[in-house]
Amino acid sequence: MNTTETNTTLDMNKKSIYSLQLDELKSWLTENDEKPFRAEQIFDWLYKKRITAFEDMSNVAKGLRDKISEHFQLTTLNTAIQQTSADGTIKFLFELHDGYSIETVLMRHDYGNSVCVTTQVGCRIGCTFCASTLGGLKRHLEAGEIVAQVVKVQQTLDETNERVDSVVIMGIGEPFDNYDNMLSFLKIINHEKALNIGARHITVSTSGIVPKIYQFADEQTQINFAISLHAPNTELRSRLMPINKAYKLDDLMKAVRYYIDKTGRRISFEYGLFGGVNDSIEHAEELASLLKGIKCHVNLIPVNYVPERDYVRTPREKIFAFEKTLKNLGINVTIRREQGSDIDAACGQLRAKERKEETR
Ligand code: SF4
Repeated sequence: MNTTETNTTLDMNKKSIYSLQLDELKSWLTENDEKPFRAEQIFDWLYKKRITAFEDMSNVAKGLRDKISEHFQLTTLNTAIQQTSADGTIKFLFELHDGYSIETVLMRHDYGNSVCVTTQVGCRIGCTFCASTLGGLKRHLEAGEIVAQVVKVQQTLDETNERVDSVVIMGIGEPFDNYDNMLSFLKIINHEKALNIGARHITVSTSGIVPKIYQFADEQTQINFAISLHAPNTELRSRLMPINKAYKLDDLMKAVRYYIDKTGRRISFEYGLFGGVNDSIEHAEELASLLKGIKCHVNLIPVNYVPERDYVRTPREKIFAFEKTLKNLGINVTIRREQGSDIDAACGQLRAKERKEETR
């Protein structure tokens, strides 16, 4: 099913109000001769009541509402396309104020509703299997543009009295390439006065920007951390993911060990299975030896065919043989359940199909 909403005009000169931390909103109110306690009321309207217009803040004086709407934008995303899969997955194509578009996905799991958010318009990392990197990086998203994706999905779920239970930062873009905005986004959605999504229900995933892994470890958050690995040795990883030429597998694994030592937390490794490329028993054995002794979990992802790329899907029996080999060698492993296979499910596919001019 595709739907197109009645959309509002987006103003590129105003900052998104969703970019502000509670303390920043308090400071802004003080600077504008208003009482700082109003910040909590405003957050309540934004995140608990999830208003769609500043005028709806009925316990905020009109003078203050006017000041807020002079300085800030409430709606920073317009829904251009909404596709619903037979399994309940919903894929959104949102338009931004400058005409660019991004994807956000709502996934239904037996443990709750999970939203996959985008952090950049396009991506410069260049993974060879990814539609999101076609056309390169256009720009970083503001923190508020990332927060607004979760709010928009929550507003959809409000219609059925459901909630967003978890968030994964695995959509278009490399989150660690937009580090400060990503971190600000994490703090906002985690804040009890905002969306109050627990840190252990949030996962951030990187392609392996090594210096940022050290920085993220030092933040000492409780947020789940995943690394897109996709290969058991440096030569194959460089072929699949050019970032491995800048940050070699050895250096990545050193950063992984630092992260685990510093935080005591387990890491997830994402391993996409590409038919005939990285899915043999030998690859599984090599992967097990790379990860030996590391507190981790491996997510095997049978990769969908991406029309713009040459990779093909690994046959079912080979997927199970790969999993079994890892298990037998003592590695925690699961195969990711495929969702939304009847819509443009893989990251960047909907944008690549609908916005060809952005991905050239
Ligand atoms: S997989 Fe992620 S990091 Fe790699 S090109 Fe795609 S969006 Fe960028």
